[in-house]
Amino acid sequence: MANIGYIQVVRHCNHFCGFCSNPTSPYVHTRETLRALVDDLVARDYYGVVLTGGEPTLHPELPETIGYAKSRGLHVRMITNGSRLAQPDFARAVAEAGLDLVHVSVYSVRPEVEARLRGTDDTLGRAFAAIENAADHGVAVNVNCVINKLNADHLDENVRYFIEHHPRVRHFVWNNLDPSMGRAEVNQALFLHRLTDMRDSLFRALRLLHATARTFRVERVPLCFMPEFAWASTETRKIVKGEERIVHFLDQKQTVRQTEWDHIYAEGCPECSLRPICGGLFERGDAFDPAELVPLRVPLRPIAEAVIGDPSDPSYPLRSFEEWEPDFLRRLEEAKSLPRLDTSGELPPPEMRPDAPPVGQVTDRSAARYRREMETVARRARSSGVAPERPHRLHVIDD
Ligand code: SF4
Repeated sequence: MANIGYIQVVRHCNHFCGFCSNPTSPYVHTRETLRALVDDLVARDYYGVVLTGGEPTLHPELPETIGYAKSRGLHVRMITNGSRLAQPDFARAVAEAGLDLVHVSVYSVRPEVEARLRGTDDTLGRAFAAIENAADHGVAVNVNCVINKLNADHLDENVRYFIEHHPRVRHFVWNNLDPSMGRAEVNQALFLHRLTDMRDSLFRALRLLHATARTFRVERVPLCFMPEFAWASTETRKIVKGEERIVHFLDQKQTVRQTEWDHIYAEGCPECSLRPICGGLFERGDAFDPAELVPLRVPLRPIAEAVIGDPSDPSYPLRSFEEWEPDFLRRLEEAKSLPRLDTSGELPPPEMRPDAPPVGQVTDRSAARYRREMETVARRARSSGVAPERPHRLHVIDD
């Protein structure tokens, strides 16, 4: 199975997005703790790792960590705002270290909207330079976009821009806003859209990508808001293939092993033909309105076939619907007999991280850095007109 794990390399950032769900924390990684998490994913027989943040390029050990993960046989990916990758020397360094794929985040190609979302001026030019630098060094480039209130109406405009100006970008990832954590949680009134606000522009964006032979994935969007492209839903693909995901958070949550992808459903969802393979509404935060969900009457089979038959993703061994269906039904029965994991709280239950190594550490020095960063956060929040995230509790160990 092609499971991919996530490691939050740092949690600080040089941008200040008002909807950041993983803002700064007092935890830090050393070369050794980063290696321990890479080893953890290798021990779990994972296919790849996504190095993320915060802004992962701000960790001085990033190239070393990329090289180590590569040497352990992982497919190495990174999510970045592109600010450091815009420097040709840095792009060469991470490419030579073994980076296979980079996701550059761009939320809107309208400069004034991007500046508002980033809490920082003039970021677009550096993101575009990062895309070209990475491609020049042979690193595959994807564009990531968080769907929110300010870009929900022009997602297709972003796609048209990239097709015209950055034709080497062949894959796009759309993430519906996670309203449950960090600044996203406390700034819902500013950045959280209604699902209906994005429906038309998401459809136009996906249709355009499909028509131009580009590929895409969509995360945290219920299938009734993308029925034509249900096979591209990240949750649906994981449900169909029975995949899990490990996230090594750099905060109190530590390691979270996600195995269940179904979240909140509306009263009518049991009547929906896609309910068995739909992730529903993202579960935490109680922010989106289940009343927006509309049960569907479309066949499930072509969607499952598109996922298991995808020639670009040969990770799932059963390639025909006749083989897949009994395996899927068996997995559903097994899942029913297991106790339901409680993912509603801040800390995951212990059974979600039975043998994972500790993630990062809080030291005197990192706690002092965190206090200074929170002063900066408070200043930037005031000047950006957004609320700062809730502070972390500090449990310090000796340096
Ligand atoms: S109605 Fe419910 S089960 Fe059906 S696609 Fe929408 S969220 Fe999923």
